[in-house]
Amino acid sequence: AEKMKQKSADIIKKLFLKGQIVTLNTELSYEEAENIAVEYDILCEMEEKVDVIAELVQDSEVDEEKDLEPRPPVVVVMGHVDHGKTSILDAIRNTNVTSREHGGITQSIGAYQVSVKVNGESRVVTFLDTPGHEAFTAMRMRGAQSTDIAVLVVAADDGIKPQTIEAINHAKAANTEIIVAINKIDKPTANVEKVKQELMAYDLVAEDYGGSTICCPVSAKTGEGLENLLENIALQADVLELKANPNRKAYGVVIEAELDKGRGSVARLLVQKGTLHVGDVVAVGSAFGKVRAMIDDKGRRIKKATPSMPVEILGLNSVPNAGEIFQVKDNEKEAKAYADTFVSEGKQRMVEESRKKVSLDALFDQIKAGELKDLPIVLKADVQGSVEAVRDSLQKIQNEEVQVKVIHSGVGAINESDINLAIASNAIVIGFDVKPDATAKDIAERENVDVRLYNIIYKAIEDIELAMKGMLAPVF
Ligand code: GDP
Repeated sequence: AEKMKQKSADIIKKLFLKGQIVTLNTELSYEEAENIAVEYDILCEMEEKVDVIAELVQDSEVDEEKDLEPRPPVVVVMGHVDHGKTSILDAIRNTNVTSREHGGITQSIGAYQVSVKVNGESRVVTFLDTPGHEAFTAMRMRGAQSTDIAVLVVAADDGIKPQTIEAINHAKAANTEIIVAINKIDKPTANVEKVKQELMAYDLVAEDYGGSTICCPVSAKTGEGLENLLENIALQADVLELKANPNRKAYGVVIEAELDKGRGSVARLLVQKGTLHVGDVVAVGSAFGKVRAMIDDKGRRIKKATPSMPVEILGLNSVPNAGEIFQVKDNEKEAKAYADTFVSEGKQRMVEESRKKVSLDALFDQIKAGELKDLPIVLKADVQGSVEAVRDSLQKIQNEEVQVKVIHSGVGAINESDINLAIASNAIVIGFDVKPDATAKDIAERENVDVRLYNIIYKAIEDIELAMKGMLAPVF
């Protein structure tokens, strides 16, 4: 009742009239609540219903505690520009024994793994090799919680800077553990203690100052302290008790993806749960396919990838987006169904967004909000002479903020392809002495495309000019 801004008594009465006896304390199922909401026509306000995609990408498997095994931590490196993020990532990668064993021929797959000895035991750490909080936050915006530990790089000769603070806030917002790497200690002007003091203002209190923030003095240039940094990351991973079930269908996130001329769709994934095998069927956003080949961060062909491992896979039918969740499905049919739902829901979402955009009635608000620079128009008319006359007059319309652009014009009835073009380009459709055919009419109505029909040129011009000034009288 609260959400619908209705009196609870009214809802109780409504249900009572339907023969359902309820009190204020009766719990209704989601469906029942939904039915009531529909009657009050406020369904679109219930976010839960709209976000089918959020539900779709959710992991359908539930892992039991007993099946969980320790997994390597996934680490992102953040900090102010020029403080040495890239240098640290490179230095760690290059000093790593494994990559040297393989001749150092490493290719970037968006992340890499290194091993480190802790108390005589070999341990693995995964680094995302795109530094910076933008990439990290982009992934998070898609709902992927991909990193466990953020290494905050602060140059010892420069101290805390604006992007350092940004990085701290991004890491905190994501509940990511922060380990500080105080870099450039080889420089004569380096002042480690000063950095530690500055950090306190951001609730990052070093251990020797009585706090719990791990601060590792390092030099990416000389390599000093890097081993110690890795050890501390591994130890912190123990504290966090990072675990995953390796014996289940793989689930994870796309780090990056691209179309390669020779190899087709190349997707770099971070496996978060389960084990990914060659031959598995993967669904990721609107892309899907059977994993044809898998390559690790050392450029080796591999057959399987376990939790926290980055891999490059070939075999998807299109290029997925970075940050998208991937899941292994039982078969191609299931994966295709997933992709189809994703496409239709994604389109639905776009329609909902464009509903606000493609309409003469809302034009002025959007111009004011600075959302619109061009007004794209699809124009159809009965004869070529009219097409040209109307197009020329329309093209001349402009004011300081917005310019009319006829993106397509032609002779004949408004058809499906015109409407589809309008949907894709967020355009308004104008018909001069023509009407939409039945299919076009259906789609336009369903997708809320603004179709305007005229038979006098000046009327069309006037409407658009008025709309641009926010003076168009609404049509009822
Ligand atoms: P990013 O912008 O944070 O990725 O910083 P870079 O890794 O590109 O480093 C910026 C500059 O600092 C480069 O000229 C590096 O050579 C230099 N640099 C990075 N780490 C060190 C270090 O430990 N010591 C010294 N002396 N210079 C460093």
